[in-house]
Amino acid sequence: MLKRYLLAPGPTPVPHEALLAMAAPVLHHRTPQFAEIFRKVAAGSRELFGTRQPVLPLASSGTGAMEAAVTNTLSAGDRVLVVSGGKFGERWAEIARTHGLDAIEIEVEWGCAVDPDQIADALRRHPGVRAVLMQHSETSTTALHPVERVAELTRDTDVLLIVDGITSVGVFETRMDEVGIDVLVTGSQKAIMLPPGLALIALSDKAWAAAAKSTLPRYYFDLAKARESFAEDSTAYTPAISFISGLEAVYRLVAEQGGWPAVYRRHAILAEATRRGALAMGLRLLAPSAPSPAATGVWMPEGIDAGEVARYLRDVIGVTVAGGQGKLKGKILRLGHIGYADTFDVIVALTAVEMALKHFGTGVVMGRGPAAAQEVLLQMYQVQEG
Ligand SMILES: *Cc1c(COP(=O)(O)O)cnc(C)c1O
Repeated sequence: MLKRYLLAPGPTPVPHEALLAMAAPVLHHRTPQFAEIFRKVAAGSRELFGTRQPVLPLASSGTGAMEAAVTNTLSAGDRVLVVSGGKFGERWAEIARTHGLDAIEIEVEWGCAVDPDQIADALRRHPGVRAVLMQHSETSTTALHPVERVAELTRDTDVLLIVDGITSVGVFETRMDEVGIDVLVTGSQKAIMLPPGLALIALSDKAWAAAAKSTLPRYYFDLAKARESFAEDSTAYTPAISFISGLEAVYRLVAEQGGWPAVYRRHAILAEATRRGALAMGLRLLAPSAPSPAATGVWMPEGIDAGEVARYLRDVIGVTVAGGQGKLKGKILRLGHIGYADTFDVIVALTAVEMALKHFGTGVVMGRGPAAAQEVLLQMYQVQEG
């Protein structure tokens, strides 16, 4: 029997508590019983996003919420800046162009963070920009973008800051209102520890004002309609009922185990341990200067096909990690360490990668990666003072 481990940046493993909640008989959504769950989830989502705005659940994967962010706040012909430093940045540009927007891409080397000066520059050179679209954590390159610094440029202007938080919300602290993010989206299958299929989105007052003027067509993802229903503890159409129950279970589980701050601390330690382990086994990091705590990208040694390594890991060893996307295909591996991930998931990932590297004939010395990680992982069990 091959025991399987899912150690990718998403989908991520789902804790038993959430699986069981989702397996419960389906409630009818126009009932007080469902409304009660909906209210608890609404409160939990507000805390998670760091906002007093409604956080609207959508029945889609994260990309549906990305598209809703565009179609609800912008109009055909609007000029937008897109931070393009990976597969998901490219997705923003594709969505924008699909809807007839004039998307100006800010090119960022894959694996690097955008320099806020590039954005300040572009805002000066292109008057009339309506929005900046970016990732907080660009999962395809495992780089972290400085959203807080970009928000300083947009906060007191008419420019909307639209952020894909799909591997940042629930990974580290997001303070949407305080930072000045205008539209924030996330999806269920990354740090939120649910299967794929639910997205969450929130709009600032500035974004709601833009929504009232935006003329792009929308029906299912009409957020003004969603907000009206939300005020009555409901959704405009049949919600993903079992996902809402699953999300309630996740919020309860997190609250029982020290709240989100404990989750963020765990993610930071797992990420640091993974990076140290990868370096100790002689691998180069893909995003050394701005690593995301969501996932760690590592270059495979010269002459080694990362796709082959990923296949060996998955089919022979039983460990699923992610390979590279777009121009990084065949060159890198991405090790996820968010959500229902802990100390020994990092050890499994690093041990498996070392074994695979040995199998493919590199000169790796086995044991160095996990040993370096263990030193960092001990922090997890140090008693917190105060
Ligand atoms: C996973 C991911 C997406 C894509 O979300 P889907 O749920 O596959 O639609 C978009 N952006 C980022 C940053 C992601 O990590």
